[in-house]
Amino acid sequence: MNTLAEAPKQTERSEREIIQSLQEEVSASRLNLFLQCRLKFYYRYVLRLKKPKTASLHLGNSVHSALKAWSKARWLNKPLTLRELHDAYSKAWADISEGSVPWETGEEEEAKTTGWRLIDTYIRQNTSMAQTKPDAVEVSVEADLSHHGLPRLIGILDLVQEGKIIDFKTSSSTPNQTTIEHLHELQVSSYAVLYRHNTGKQEKGIELHHLVKLKNPKLSITSLPPMTQQQEHRLFHLMDTYYEEVGRAEFYPSPSLACMGCEFFGECRRWT
Ligand code: SF4
Repeated sequence: MNTLAEAPKQTERSEREIIQSLQEEVSASRLNLFLQCRLKFYYRYVLRLKKPKTASLHLGNSVHSALKAWSKARWLNKPLTLRELHDAYSKAWADISEGSVPWETGEEEEAKTTGWRLIDTYIRQNTSMAQTKPDAVEVSVEADLSHHGLPRLIGILDLVQEGKIIDFKTSSSTPNQTTIEHLHELQVSSYAVLYRHNTGKQEKGIELHHLVKLKNPKLSITSLPPMTQQQEHRLFHLMDTYYEEVGRAEFYPSPSLACMGCEFFGECRRWT
């Protein structure tokens, strides 16, 4: 097991219990992180080290929250005006803020404006979507996969509309259409399994809605077909690997370009 001078003290027993609970339940983001870097997974989910939120994450969370309000109002047949949506965004920005992001002077206002421009672009380019009542909004779901010998799968579906699963994302560059399906496969397959498990139906497709933070904000929609059996097998195989390998508690660094944005870079450099 790794030892770290700066990590909060946890008894051997409590760490084992945490690992056991991580084996019992997994989400797509947890699984992705484990496959990306086990040490980062260890810092975030076993040691639970807290780090200040980044400006980019704060913006993404606030935009996400405003789009949730927009979808929920449509679900209630009480669509929001642009003004009401702006208010919902400002409230989300302030509520999430709580001084957690170490903003430079003037940076927060600029980031907040960028976020609003993304939402405004999204709403203006989605007039047909605005007329349709969603099937579900921001719903927490889980699937008991014990009959496959797998951990419970959990997740939150941002939006389900006309039988399609829709996921919102903010990004700083336009997604590459040749790699996007591969990069998001675990998440997309997890959503499909959760949807089928909870509705008894096959999804009509999955859409990734990327709100891209360019000088002129852009919306990039990727439409994917329903999950194939091969994709389901791949997901289940990786969940099985996760279960086995989390249980071994071998958490080591996997240096890659992703280290440039890793919040645990300092801890990782001191890891032995
Ligand atoms: S810096 Fe890189 S190798 Fe280290 S924990 Fe972060 S992602 Fe893993």
